[in-house]
Amino acid sequence: MNTIPEILLKQKEFFKSQKTKEVPYRLSLLKTLKQEILSNEQAIYDALKKDFKKPEFETYISEFGLVISELNLVIKHLKKWAAPKRIKSSMLTFPSRDYIYKQPYGNILIIAPWNYPFLLAMEPLIMAIAAGNTVVLKPSELTKHTSQLITDIVQKTFPETIAKSIQGGVETATALLAQKWDYIFFTGSVSVGKIVARAAANYLTPVTLELGGKSPCIIDDTVNLKLVARRISWGKFLNAGQTCISADYIIVKSNIKDAFIEALKTEIIKRYGDNPKESPDLPRIINKRNVSRIADMLEGSQIIYGGHIDIEDCYISPTLIDSPDLDSKIMSDEIFGPVLPILTYDTEQDIENIIWHYDKPLALYVFSNDKTFIEQTIKKYSFGGGVINDLLIHFGNHRLPFGGIGASGMGAYHGKTGFDTFSHHKAISKRGNWSDPGVRYAPYKGKLGLLKKMFKYFS
Ligand code: NAD
Repeated sequence: MNTIPEILLKQKEFFKSQKTKEVPYRLSLLKTLKQEILSNEQAIYDALKKDFKKPEFETYISEFGLVISELNLVIKHLKKWAAPKRIKSSMLTFPSRDYIYKQPYGNILIIAPWNYPFLLAMEPLIMAIAAGNTVVLKPSELTKHTSQLITDIVQKTFPETIAKSIQGGVETATALLAQKWDYIFFTGSVSVGKIVARAAANYLTPVTLELGGKSPCIIDDTVNLKLVARRISWGKFLNAGQTCISADYIIVKSNIKDAFIEALKTEIIKRYGDNPKESPDLPRIINKRNVSRIADMLEGSQIIYGGHIDIEDCYISPTLIDSPDLDSKIMSDEIFGPVLPILTYDTEQDIENIIWHYDKPLALYVFSNDKTFIEQTIKKYSFGGGVINDLLIHFGNHRLPFGGIGASGMGAYHGKTGFDTFSHHKAISKRGNWSDPGVRYAPYKGKLGLLKKMFKYFS
């Protein structure tokens, strides 16, 4: 088997051959990938079920379906996206025709997490290939069935010189990061994001960091509580809360807190029954270490619903926490599980005190029918993206860029934004030779007035 440096060297050589710049070639690779994924549909459901009991329905809606949609989109639009784009010329460069050429960066490293193991490995891979790059992908070591399947699919679809999936944990990731890449796309935790950024800095490699954080969900007293509870019971417990844009905690207007909690309990029971452990629709926590991590965060919390834990089964029931302290364990880090702390507010100041206590989150949600409150809230706080009156759904629109800000990440992808992320936007002015105004040439004497006029009128 080739070593990491050998694989990268081959990819570097292949990139120089210019073959990946051919759009028909990229399209043929993407179409083969689509066929390979379609023929593995059941195997993908089975792998995710084995990894953390993810229900087939959730794998379809949040992984398989999204990957196929992204492939369909890029196959349909690639020619247009990849074509040089003529843009308006400036009179200051007259005579010229100006263009943006979308050029591949070259050799890309993608490091993926475990929580949506198929989606978050495949989506960047698709757009990196579409943009004409070569890729080394490292899927997560924690979802071994899915990661093996991804590796098989990549191996069957692509020559190693274009894309290769390399499995492994920290050691492998460290060895990969020691190489010189042209772009690194990382999805994962804030702490590992810093390691990736440091490694990238050694070679001034550009990075996209898709990280996490504590995403708040604000509920005012103008809402239909039954509908709010229904939507939160979906968005919070999907994937057992192991979603980077999950609502990490609630900030509800204090006068409706009790009614909200009752409505949410009712909806949780509707979704998962009185004993959620028996439900086929609640995935498990990825491993025992993460169950212990969340159990530890629960220490000292006031559990008002759920709180059932079975470490051997990697099970945590949907759990509600009442009014935790901002510096308590449960509020000190991203929860990443089916646990929902409920805080309250009375004034705008209370909301500020809570949200500005933490780093800029990846998502923010507002449930309200008060347009002024909604507009103020989404403008006042810094966050990656969000939804008014629901959770998560902004992820599903490929026309919306997806990414964080500050500690929740940098850069964005999804749909055309993803293609653009993996492309260098090369600025080209094609100068006409039929005229050559003399104003810029020395001697400058007597020309400054004309130059100033040109800047005034044409810039
Ligand atoms: P993680 O950071 O532990 O691991 C992510 C990847 O990094 C894995 O492939 C892992 O092998 C690798 N890795 C781990 N330690 C490393 C090290 N020391 N050096 C180099 N690479 C290393 O994250 P995770 O537990 O897989 O995923 C959960 C986190 O990811 C959460 O914080 C979540 O919010 C975040 N996340 C963000 C998004 C997003 O799109 N913004 C999506 C999913 C998950």
